[in-house]
Order: sequence, then C-alpha cells, then structure tokens
Amino acid sequence: MKTENSIDLSIIIPVYNEEESIPALYNRLKEVMSETAYSFELIFVDDGSKDNSLQVLREIKETSAINIRIVQLNRNFGQHPALNAGFSVAEGKVLITIDADLQIDPRHISDMMDKMKQGYDFVSGIRRGKGDSFLLRRFPSLVLNSMIGSIIGKKLQDYGCPLNAMRSEIAETMREYGEMQRFFKPLAIKLADRIAETEVKYDRRLTGQSKYGFLNLVDLFFDFVTNFSKHLFQRVAMIGFGLSGISFLVEILYLVLRFPFGIIQNPLDRLQAIALIGFVFGVQLLILGILGDFVIKIYRKIDPKPLYIIKKIW
Ligand code: UDP
Ligand code: MG
Repeated sequence: MKTENSIDLSIIIPVYNEEESIPALYNRLKEVMSETAYSFELIFVDDGSKDNSLQVLREIKETSAINIRIVQLNRNFGQHPALNAGFSVAEGKVLITIDADLQIDPRHISDMMDKMKQGYDFVSGIRRGKGDSFLLRRFPSLVLNSMIGSIIGKKLQDYGCPLNAMRSEIAETMREYGEMQRFFKPLAIKLADRIAETEVKYDRRLTGQSKYGFLNLVDLFFDFVTNFSKHLFQRVAMIGFGLSGISFLVEILYLVLRFPFGIIQNPLDRLQAIALIGFVFGVQLLILGILGDFVIKIYRKIDPKPLYIIKKIW
C-alpha cells in the first residue's frame, strides 16, 4: 500500500510523436488548471516517440513552475500500456487521463472533477462532435461499446473516450490484474462501484496525425476479448447448453406425440433434422466453451511479459 496521496489530481498524458501538440496542450492545461483550486501534477508518458517530443517535454519541465514528471518508456508500447506506466507513478487522489492532441479540451477536466466530488469512483467522457469518420471509427466503436458492455455487464456509452477520471485506489487494484490492464477502461469499470458519464466536446486533431486507425480498434478488441474471455466462453457454453437442451426436448416431444399418443401422424423429417443439427451444434458449443475456459485459466497462469518498461523518469 502507498502512503496517503497528497495531491488532488494527477493528469496523465500518453505521448507518441506529439512534438507539435505538446506546447499548446501544456499552455491550455496550465490555463484551465489555474482557474481551479486543485493541486495537481502532470505526468507525460513518452511512449517511445521518434520525434522531438521528449526534448520538448524536458524543456517545458525545466522552465515550468508546475509539478511535472516525464516517464520515458524504452520503446513504443501503445497508448494503454503508456497510461498504465503513468498510473504506476501517479501520486494524486484522482487520476485523470487525457490525450496529447487537444481533441478534447482540458477545460472538461473540471466537469470530470465535479462528478468525482459527488462520490463517483470512475467518470468517463462521452465524445460529442465530428472528430472521426463514421464508417471507420464511430460505427466500429458503437459495436465495440455494446459488446464490451454486454460482456462485462456494465454499459458505458463511450469506452473509447480518452478523457476519464478515477480514484487512485482503482489504479492500484488494477495492477493486480496483469495482462487485463492492456485495455484499461473495461477493467477499471469492472472494478468501480459508482460510475458516471459526462459529455465532452470532441474536435478534429489540429496538428500531427492520428496514431490510430481501424486496425488499432481491432487490436484493442482482441486484447479485450483475450482478457475478458472468461465471460465470453461462459456465454458460449451457456448458449451451447441451451441450444442442445431445447433441441433435445423438441425431439423428445415429437417422439412422444407421434408414437405413444399418435397425435402427430406423419413423420416430420425436417423437424427431426433441425433438432438433430441443433443438438449436435449445441453440444459442440458447450464443449468449445468449456475448452475455452481451460485455455484462459492456463493463459492466466503463464507469466506475462511486462506491459511496459520504464527507461527513465524525469
Ligand atoms: N499514443 C501513445 N502511443 C501510441 C499511440 C498513441 O501514447 O502508440 C498517444 C497519442 O500521443 C495520443 C493518444 O495516445 O496522446 C491518442 O492517440 P491518437 O490521438 O493518435 O488516437 P485517436 O485520437 O485518433 O484515437
Ligand atoms: Mg486523438
């Protein structure tokens, strides 16, 4: 256990090739935070940037009066591992995550804090605006949101929103979950009791390019599936059990109505075939679900690679 956290909030920003956005982001953060009474620290996690992001950050840190830490990872690990590296050093009572690209204005941080003060454990933003293309980003995220929601049983409108606030205890608990942190938000939501959402304005990127595309969503989805597949395989097994059970009952019912009672006169070949296929398919699903559950349990026992490696902290 860590000692009592003394700062109100830690703002954690993953940075990958953002040399153009960093100065504007820093100025904006300074501006909006000076209008609040919170004590805070900025934690920039340089996720193996290949441009001058790290130098730009170090220059800012040298001249700034704000409490800034730069966590340099030893290569590019991805946005979520970078966030986890940030969580591991954060000292705030509340941890805020926000992207470096100003697609969400830092002024929304105080909206998140207003909710946190009402006693929530996790506050997620809901992006509103036309920052992304419908077909490649918004539609797939809609599908992703509803799948994640139904698998972990807690619905959020925007699992992809990068602006979030959570109590530091949640991040501490998350550390026990190893690989499951790879996509931190579903895990945090699973661990949080009281969850709130608040709308945030979402703009287009002003500088630089998105490091994410459709493929990264697919990537996140697979990380989610492998890490939360316990529930998924249980569902598969349940569906298999249900399907084979119903098919079996239909077959029995048919045989009883046809032979002892003679209510059904003619053979119903098609019904019997469907019931048979349903039964075989259901049994296969059931076995697949049980097998999947075994695989997951073995996977959990295997020592995972570290999510991130910190090279240096400034
Ligand atoms: N990012 C990162 N590592 C990566 C890719 C992205 O730390 O491998 C950071 C990036 O600098 C930004 C945030 O994650 O602060 C979100 O990235 P981006 O804006 O490119 O994604 P999008 O907004 O298009 O989803
Ligand atoms: Mg972005």
